[in-house]
Amino acid sequence: MSTATKSYAAPSATAPLAPLTIERRTPTEADVEIEILYCGVCHSDLHQARNEWGNSVFPVVPGHEIVGRVTSVGSGVTRFKVGDMAAVGCMVDSCRTCPNCKQGLEQYCDNNMTQTYNDDDRKYGGRTYGGYSERIVVDENYTLKIPSNLEAAAVAPLLCAGITTYSPLRHWKVTKGQKVGIVGLGGLGHMGLKFAHAFGAKVVLFTTSPGKAEDAKRLGADEVVLSKDAEAMQKHARSFDFILDCVSADHDINAYINLLKVDGTLTLVGAPEKPLAIGAFGLLMGRRSFAGSGIGGIAETQEMLDFCGEHNIVSDIEMIDIHQINDAYDRLLKSDVKYRFVIDMASLKK
Ligand code: NAP
Ligand code: ZN
Ligand code: ZN
Repeated sequence: MSTATKSYAAPSATAPLAPLTIERRTPTEADVEIEILYCGVCHSDLHQARNEWGNSVFPVVPGHEIVGRVTSVGSGVTRFKVGDMAAVGCMVDSCRTCPNCKQGLEQYCDNNMTQTYNDDDRKYGGRTYGGYSERIVVDENYTLKIPSNLEAAAVAPLLCAGITTYSPLRHWKVTKGQKVGIVGLGGLGHMGLKFAHAFGAKVVLFTTSPGKAEDAKRLGADEVVLSKDAEAMQKHARSFDFILDCVSADHDINAYINLLKVDGTLTLVGAPEKPLAIGAFGLLMGRRSFAGSGIGGIAETQEMLDFCGEHNIVSDIEMIDIHQINDAYDRLLKSDVKYRFVIDMASLKK
């Protein structure tokens, strides 16, 4: 049994997103059915809609920053009831038994997490379809609670941009007294700024967009550096404890490795299409680390949402109608984002 559900999908890597009717399963006993109110637009949606990572199976219904209202619950569901607000991020399932799943690192499941869209549905077969749609049906164990004091539309981006920056900043123990760099002021970067600032670090934002400098300071940067200005970059040589690279496209990573102190770490969360070239000596001469980080586990995502509730942190958003999604993608490619597009899903009914 299933329910016909309106969505917006990429039919191929080159065609614009367009309406598509998909099927959602009738909730099983473990499931929560959510009417989607808002869905954030992540650059990963664009990478996959255009098959830039080479893993897309079309049609792709993107969207993994989902906030909505519960419309139905299965008989075994205990944490949600009809009418509650609920959220879904980048994954909807994992094996639940491997060592990583058991310690709350479901995103690194040895048997692969089931991603919210553009993935094989490990339990029900077929493909997963994301949040650019009227409703979604998800196991309650992969469904999040959102703090009631926060504006729901501005919470949506926390489900990916939020957790993807919160998790590495926590893992590498960013704290007061440290100097931290955030590279790229887009959806991830602006949340990275907010969290690094909230954790007490001195935060420097690196950007290619001179027009974003004032906003960066409002969002939590103590200093803004134009990455194309070699002299300004040089002033920060060998001074950073930690740098979080949130850039979606090809760029010179060595320029940032050289800004790390001895034993400093540069962590990549951006996922550009092409491999990055890394010079050996930048790492050797300073015992520096180059690392990566993928989203965050379910418990940590809930921890991040609760932290945001306590500290009144949300995303800075520009609300769009679903019909504007192709224009929003074009603007993302021009770094013209302030600082996350969120789709008002009521527009799907228009
Ligand atoms: P976004 O909103 O489009 O922001 C990307 C920012 O990168 C731009 O605003 C721009 O900032 C900078 N940038 C773009 N092109 C650049 C270039 N050629 N050289 C230097 N800087 C450039 O993207 P997002 O949604 O934050 O996602 C960022 C990346 O993270 C994407 O690749 C996405 O797929 C990836 N991602 C990874 C994870 C994970 O689990 N690790 C999760 C979500 C997303 P300035 O204007 O400030 O220069
Ligand atoms: Zn994302
Ligand atoms: Zn697992």
